Amino acid sequence: MSEFEFITSTGEKIPITINVRRGARNITLRPKAGDNRHIEITRPWIASNAAAIRFVEQKRRWLERFFANAPVRRHLQSGDWFDFLDMRVMVVYDAGVRGNKFVLNDDGTHTLFVGGDAGLIENRVRMFIKTELLKHIQEIIHTVPRDFWPRRICLRDTSSRWGSRSTTGTMSFSWRLGLAPYDVMRYVVMHELAHTKHMDHSPEFWATVRELYGFGVERARRWLNTYGAQLHQVL
Ligand SMILES: [Zn+2]
Repeated sequence: MSEFEFITSTGEKIPITINVRRGARNITLRPKAGDNRHIEITRPWIASNAAAIRFVEQKRRWLERFFANAPVRRHLQSGDWFDFLDMRVMVVYDAGVRGNKFVLNDDGTHTLFVGGDAGLIENRVRMFIKTELLKHIQEIIHTVPRDFWPRRICLRDTSSRWGSRSTTGTMSFSWRLGLAPYDVMRYVVMHELAHTKHMDHSPEFWATVRELYGFGVERARRWLNTYGAQLHQVL
């Protein structure tokens, strides 16, 4: 446990670690997001810890904003729900299950039973999403004319882009699209396919996207702009 902590206006206690560095001229602080949220301070040996903590208080507004904009990732445990395309899915750990078992329940929800190492539930869920998403993307691609087809598809965990294509003909998608509604995922696929014909985002490009996707391109784009960041807050 850290000796010092920064308490946000929402009551979150964020540990502060203070490092003393001989050559340091100023007090510097670095907030860290991710699973282990904390603030790292480096101070010259000549400055006191109290001075370092005062400095943190002076930067309170900036730090508050930093931690508010870097939301905590929600971890999945047995019994938790997640969205997979248009399905509500509960993940249930069952040591007796080999691999995965995906079941449709009477009320229209699904249950994903995962076995194996109890500490690897999230890995199993991620694997399930990637495997299934890849099948869906392939299916979608097969609905468009052959001259749009990529040479290869791969899934990545990129924070900034939902889809991209390389000059060698590989099309990449964020596996997190599996957490989005089906039509939003389908829009991203059609968007990338349309780039096969148009490298830019010209009116001709958008006309091709609409041709491939059909009605509702704007709605899908709006969804991504509004909720896209949330897809990074789980798993
Ligand atoms: Zn584009």
